Amino acid sequence: MSIATVNPATGRTEEVFEPHDDKEVEARLSAAAAAFAEYRATSFAERARWMVSAAELLEGEIPAIARVLTTEMGKTFASAKGEVAKSAAGLRWYAEHAEALLADEPVPSAAADSRVLWRPMGPVLAVMPWNFPMWQVMRFAAPALMAGNVGLLKHASNVPQTALLIEDVFRRAGFPSGVFQTLLIGSDKVRAVIEDERVRAVTLTGSEGAGRSVAETAGRALKKSVLELGGSDPFIVLPSADLDRAVSVGVQARVQNNGQSCIAAKRFIVHGDVYDAFEDGFVSTTAGLVVGDPMEPATGVGPLALDSGRAEVRAQVEDARAKGASILCGGEAVEGPGYFYRPTVVSGITASMRVATEEVFGPVALLYRVDDTAGALALANDTAFGLGASVWTQDPGEQRLLIEGLDVGMVFVNAMVASTPELPFGGTKHSGYGRELADLGIREFCEARSVWVA
Ligand code: NAP
Repeated sequence: MSIATVNPATGRTEEVFEPHDDKEVEARLSAAAAAFAEYRATSFAERARWMVSAAELLEGEIPAIARVLTTEMGKTFASAKGEVAKSAAGLRWYAEHAEALLADEPVPSAAADSRVLWRPMGPVLAVMPWNFPMWQVMRFAAPALMAGNVGLLKHASNVPQTALLIEDVFRRAGFPSGVFQTLLIGSDKVRAVIEDERVRAVTLTGSEGAGRSVAETAGRALKKSVLELGGSDPFIVLPSADLDRAVSVGVQARVQNNGQSCIAAKRFIVHGDVYDAFEDGFVSTTAGLVVGDPMEPATGVGPLALDSGRAEVRAQVEDARAKGASILCGGEAVEGPGYFYRPTVVSGITASMRVATEEVFGPVALLYRVDDTAGALALANDTAFGLGASVWTQDPGEQRLLIEGLDVGMVFVNAMVASTPELPFGGTKHSGYGRELADLGIREFCEARSVWVA
């Protein structure tokens, strides 16, 4: 794939970028190693000052930056502005909390003094996806840099302007040269970077296939890896739920980011007592969404980011249709330029359909009817993924049962699954391993050093 900005709302190529050649990559790797030697000795207070400056730069330039995000990957301008603001808030959160999260931990023992220290690892490579092109990077960069690591970003090939913009923000914020750099490289060059001895660890957010490849390389090189992969999150609705709210939040949870979120609700598992009412509300709300120009304030759903992504969604829906599923609304691409696909609701799903087992990365909701809570739980867990789950019930017993029984990294009760700096973010099974955000996220790229003083 070439490294280029192609506006998904028009299909027009806006700008093509020359990838960094091997010489440039080498220069950046050596700058990263040199920067780490000094940067690791900086204080939390210094790093926090630069981090807050980066947040201020983002906050001062929200509309201009958001326009770049929308142009490169098609999210609505409103959600792009929200993403920039959220990124700034994430930078501020780690600026404020990193020192306490990484404080020495005295441990009672027979020693005169024993403790655990958290120390930075070195240059960390982040291989990032286009769907939240700023927030995904910042939730890596904020903890990594606050911990004293230096960052190397290999962003998705369709968001090069965002990648360069983020590098520029950290530079303008005052971080020393080499502390955060973008590598404009294709995915075929990732292996060599992971294998380079100056790189100490890698984090990847993306698809299962990319995860396997990066984990394999990191494994061979005996390097730490964190994987944040796909999901097919359940959204479970039981009879005591506030149904109107479950419908409106459910539709948002599915179509947020034009349907391209790892933690989007993808499988709606609804108790038979409330299924018909839920389906009615869900289908009419979905069918009423405005699809169109992501810069227009009235637009609820913009284009998919890539034409290939739209082709994949279309193939998944057609496979379900051919195997007997009911398409309750949508189920087709929008004619004309751009990569638009109508918000779609599917029911009558059977095990042989692709949508039953694969992640659907577009505005397509799958509705399932179940007889009871046990059936809901069993269906929710009947997937290779285990990222998030949203549970709708007022009954404390059902809440407890599902919180304990769901094989996922995150359970949200009477709310949609979301990322927030205070809570660890990540999944089980094929959704990956390791955690981002909160205390666990900053420790992923720290070495625990145990100290015993006799
Ligand atoms: P993707 O195709 O896997 O790409 C993600 C990144 O990996 C890009 O930078 C890509 O580079 C690179 N890449 C692809 N194949 C690679 C390989 N074999 N070796 C090394 N790097 C490789 O995923 P995407 O389409 O951008 O993103 C959508 C996926 O990300 C979905 O599955 C979604 O659920 C998942 N996601 C997960 C989370 C989470 O936190 N769990 C968050 C957001 C998204 P190129 O662009 O150059 O190919």
